[in-house]
Amino acid sequence: MVDLKGQYENIKDVIKPSFDEIIENTAFINGPKVHEFQKNLEDYLGVKHVIPCANGTDALQIAMMGLGLEQGDEVITADFTFAATVEVIALLKLTPVLVDVDPITFNIDVDAVEKAITPKTKAIVPVHLFGLAANMDEIMELAHKHNLYVIEDNAQGIGADYTHNDGSKTKTGVIGHVSSTSFFPSKNLGCYGDGGAIFTNDDDLAHTIRGIVNHGMYKRYHHDVVGVNSRLDSLQAAVLDAKLPHLDNYNDSRRNAARKYTEAFKNHPKIITPSGKSDCQGICDACDCHVFHQYTLNLKDVNRDALVAHLNENGIPCGVYYPIPLHKQKAYVDERYNEDDFKVTNQLVKSVISLPMHTELDDEQIDFITKTVIDFIDAN
Ligand SMILES: *Cc1c(COP(=O)(O)O)cnc(C)c1O
Repeated sequence: MVDLKGQYENIKDVIKPSFDEIIENTAFINGPKVHEFQKNLEDYLGVKHVIPCANGTDALQIAMMGLGLEQGDEVITADFTFAATVEVIALLKLTPVLVDVDPITFNIDVDAVEKAITPKTKAIVPVHLFGLAANMDEIMELAHKHNLYVIEDNAQGIGADYTHNDGSKTKTGVIGHVSSTSFFPSKNLGCYGDGGAIFTNDDDLAHTIRGIVNHGMYKRYHHDVVGVNSRLDSLQAAVLDAKLPHLDNYNDSRRNAARKYTEAFKNHPKIITPSGKSDCQGICDACDCHVFHQYTLNLKDVNRDALVAHLNENGIPCGVYYPIPLHKQKAYVDERYNEDDFKVTNQLVKSVISLPMHTELDDEQIDFITKTVIDFIDAN
């Protein structure tokens, strides 16, 4: 699904000396590389504060801790996402409220969010799923109207541009009150282990969060709040700092691969290709709203699981993200949920398939993959 070795070959001349220097200096934790990367990422995103931490799940949890959310507060998020998003809500003894997604963008359905708001609702967590920006203008407007926080889960969306209704552009992850990202190796900006970060433009919140990631300490050995230990180490920061200047190129390579996939699949009656805003599909030259963390097809009247088996037999990796709606996972079932409210997610878990997507895909691989998919569907 990803080719990290091929990508490494092009940056190892930067990473290796950087690793040597860190090992010579033994500045493994909170070394200068971490601060350099933090500063460079702030500049890239156009955000006042980046607070590095240990992984994307911690980043979400710490963002919620920083906002001071309390037991019983309701937090609305999408039913169709990775479990980490709902896991941290439950861990903090907040009440997760799962809602359905849009059938075209796969992102949280803003009307469903509005319907789910109660006097106990405190926050909305949109996920920029598969690398496509969620509908942030409408989400922010709704949040404003009901006095709610917005926490963007930007683990899959780093580098994506969100085009506001007035035509201006902002990077995902700097629109809500606070956001989280992951540097897991296979993410669009990935390190060689675990890593994550929290972003915010709010000075007070940034200060609170800097203490939380460091055992609730604002002055050495004075613990004002209950915190956690969540750090990005210097070696990981060195990898990220080497990759950051290439992030836009990496995302362009993904979009190019997506464009070729879509060209091959378009007009096929049983294949719905991924979409961006309106009809641009996120892959027109004027639009950077999709960074294709995943390239995900929605199949109509196709035996998806048989296609998965067929691709695997032909040496083509593929993935099903996600095979079970979160509201049906044992850990998150809740009697308040009504199946009729999850029509889209209940369908998508049966019909989506994600194809290989990374920065090193070449035309020959894409031709082989698209031909194998189409031949199987046409023959069955
Ligand atoms: C990967 C991911 C996370 C968690 O990141 P980790 O670094 O693996 O903890 C959270 N949310 C989404 C949507 C993700 O894709």
